[in-house]
Amino acid sequence: MVKYDTVLIRYGELSTKGKNRRDFITRLYTNIKYMLRDYPNLTYRKTHDRIYIKLTDENPEDISNKLKKVFGISSFSFTERIPSDIEAIKETCLRIAKVSNKKTFKMITKRHDKSFPLNSDSINRQVAGEILQNTDLKVDVHQPDLAIRVEVHSNDTYITSDKIQGAGGYPAGINGKVLLMLSGGIDSPVAAYQLMKRGLNVEAVHFASPPYTSENAKQKVLDLAAQVSEYQGHMKVHVVNFTQLQLEIYKHAGDPYAVTLMRRMMYRLAERISTKYGCLAIGTGESVGQVASQTLESINCINAVTNMPVLRPLVCYDKVEIIELARKIGTYETSILPFEDCCTIFDPKNPVTKPSIVKSEYYESKFDYETLIQQVVDEIETVNVQVKRSEEDFL
Ligand code: ATP
Ligand code: MG
Repeated sequence: MVKYDTVLIRYGELSTKGKNRRDFITRLYTNIKYMLRDYPNLTYRKTHDRIYIKLTDENPEDISNKLKKVFGISSFSFTERIPSDIEAIKETCLRIAKVSNKKTFKMITKRHDKSFPLNSDSINRQVAGEILQNTDLKVDVHQPDLAIRVEVHSNDTYITSDKIQGAGGYPAGINGKVLLMLSGGIDSPVAAYQLMKRGLNVEAVHFASPPYTSENAKQKVLDLAAQVSEYQGHMKVHVVNFTQLQLEIYKHAGDPYAVTLMRRMMYRLAERISTKYGCLAIGTGESVGQVASQTLESINCINAVTNMPVLRPLVCYDKVEIIELARKIGTYETSILPFEDCCTIFDPKNPVTKPSIVKSEYYESKFDYETLIQQVVDEIETVNVQVKRSEEDFL
């Protein structure tokens, strides 16, 4: 049997130099511990290029599934920790080779401790010789069935035979805060995931229009936020009562401009809320050409109301690619639940696809939206959501 007792976590070189690198590692370390908070018996250790987790009797599969969700990890492996001694290394590698049931293998050794008497090449040769003598396995350096990795450090050596791909990106939260407009649709939760992957801390704003939109629709958005919050720990959702502003828009603007004005209002509100809560950019799930409000002309007209950077991680994605990601991150099934959101309720028949800024400003001049915006911002309801823990699911 292979006795995995340590998880070895690698992070990419990336642009992690100097102080940035220290911050990166510290944040990653904290995020990993938070992700694995249900496992109190784990012990952690970090060095300049690795994080090690010592296992006791945890299920490696469960740990692996959690670690795959931590941004900033480039790969990780379950390893056996043994003394840095060539006989121990040979014995362990041979045991792994014997139980593997594979036909070909390759040794990959990294000697981190240069005072170890054998260099990587000699270690590879000695271990391979031991395996060739005692098993039927053959060496294949190009496409081996089994790659045995040996990492020699000054006291301990780590041996592993599989390398699991991590989520990549930057540790969530390291690059500042963004305010994401979160609807109950498919796209915006995926946008949240993409932003988090860039190391951003995502707060969400949701525009609800009660009583035209139901409590269920709001709950659906909070559920989506909770699901995607797993990737950064927890998430603040600012719920905005959008009803009054929407009604005013419909009263003063013709049907074709309603969506344009509504979205300009959303951007104004998002800017206001960003400033209030210290977010340095607005995020959305928009994708060029997807619907009338996402033509380049529309984006231009809508974007004109704010000077803040607007991050649109899905801007060039096809819907099928977005759906694939939504399935992967586990939000798709919730997104397709049939609860109406504010846009579908006031859905106009003929939305303009090439809106003009001048016309938009003309309609907006007919009512005092500034006062309404201020009221709405003063009355925001903020909910802090977190993924449902497995124990709670059983309650
Ligand atoms: P999604 O699937 O994310 O709802 P969509 O394809 O339905 O996107 P739109 O409804 O035009 O497209 O919305 C574009 C973007 O505007 C959304 O991705 C989201 O960022 C934002 N948005 C739309 N409606 C709301 C809402 N009610 N509250 C907060 N943000 C919203
Ligand atoms: Mg939508």
